[in-house]
Amino acid sequence: MPKQIAIDGPAGAGKSTVARAVAEKLGFIYVDTGAMYRAMALFLSQQGVDPEDRKAIEAVCDRAEITISHVDGEQQVFLNGENVSKKIRTEEISRLAAITSAVPKVRQKMRALQHQLAERQDVVMDGRDIGTCILPEAPCKIYLTAGTAERARRRCEEYAAKGIPADFSAIEQEIIERDERDKNREISPLRQAEDAVYLDTSDMTIEQAVESVLAIAGSCAWK
Ligand code: C5P
Repeated sequence: MPKQIAIDGPAGAGKSTVARAVAEKLGFIYVDTGAMYRAMALFLSQQGVDPEDRKAIEAVCDRAEITISHVDGEQQVFLNGENVSKKIRTEEISRLAAITSAVPKVRQKMRALQHQLAERQDVVMDGRDIGTCILPEAPCKIYLTAGTAERARRRCEEYAAKGIPADFSAIEQEIIERDERDKNREISPLRQAEDAVYLDTSDMTIEQAVESVLAIAGSCAWK
């Protein structure tokens, strides 16, 4: 059976950076499930669908064919044949994905794709519901988080590195709103799986967080 490491946690906690590095060290495939929800949000916005209109979303979401491939270990996301890996990294898509990911039919589609990927190869999969819903049997589950202010600070740093001006309070507010949505939605809300290890990276460097995850993975009872 392929090995599975499930990493869940709120937005901006550093999950993807840590998960990518852990996957590389272990020779696993890194699966960023947020990118799938972002690709769906992009599709819905291209269709001009109101993100709050569940019926309209359910009527068109089957027309979005989302696929994943890996080039040099880097995940690429395709929407109806187009590589949208870069297009989905905007604040607007972050906002829309947090709304449209609450639609049950959207989640069903993503679940099928995530299962397919995890059945074929060893994976480090990150998201919001991986340990609780998608891979509940994964022997290694981690809930990776950091304080809100620290997450906002890191996001500001990312913007600064790209030369984009950033407003700390606005970013912190946006993070709080996304957390609220992800934790309080009816279906697959963000929460720590009972058997997940809680890892707060507020005072850790990326390297320390990676080492911690590798240590947790090393102590798991792999089947
Ligand atoms: O992780 P990322 O910020 O790219 O995810 C974008 C949005 O997709 C999240 O705010 C969340 O609402 C949704 N998501 C989800 N379940 C996942 C991964 C992401 O609902 N497994």
